[in-house]
Amino acid sequence: MTNEKTIFEKIVAGEIPCAKVYEDVETFAFLDINPNSIGHTLVITKKPFRNIFDLPDSAAESLIRSVKKVAAAVKKATNCDGLNIIMNNEKAAGQIVFHAHVHIIPRKDGDWGLHKHLTYKDGEMTEIAKKISVAIE
Ligand code: AMP
Repeated sequence: MTNEKTIFEKIVAGEIPCAKVYEDVETFAFLDINPNSIGHTLVITKKPFRNIFDLPDSAAESLIRSVKKVAAAVKKATNCDGLNIIMNNEKAAGQIVFHAHVHIIPRKDGDWGLHKHLTYKDGEMTEIAKKISVAIE
């Protein structure tokens, strides 16, 4: 774990706003602010583990359980054809926020490999987050 508070810890604490889709005792999920596709969601550990390398087994289990749950909801809410589940670990692998998180990126047939950075329109982020959140089973 790191000493400095990560941006994701601030999100969990409610100090920074987010489009939340899910929360349980150990994990938290919200929309990525700079999405690759509409509905791109991050599932994070509440505790500030850095990444896969310092993640205890119990936290890894909780994280993957939530990823499964949220992925099903993202698929339902966005009506995507598939989705990528990605975890970047360390700078060399593209990790920017050093707080363990998993990306869930919805894909439509034919858009795989296109690395876009989209921007949500006004109100769209809240609307999609709500759709995902109500689809959680
Ligand atoms: P990574 O490269 O795996 O560390 O990705 C970190 C992700 O966090 C990026 O896709 C960012 O767009 C996303 N991100 C950073 N700050 C925020 C924020 N305040 N709210 C939502 N997503 C964020």
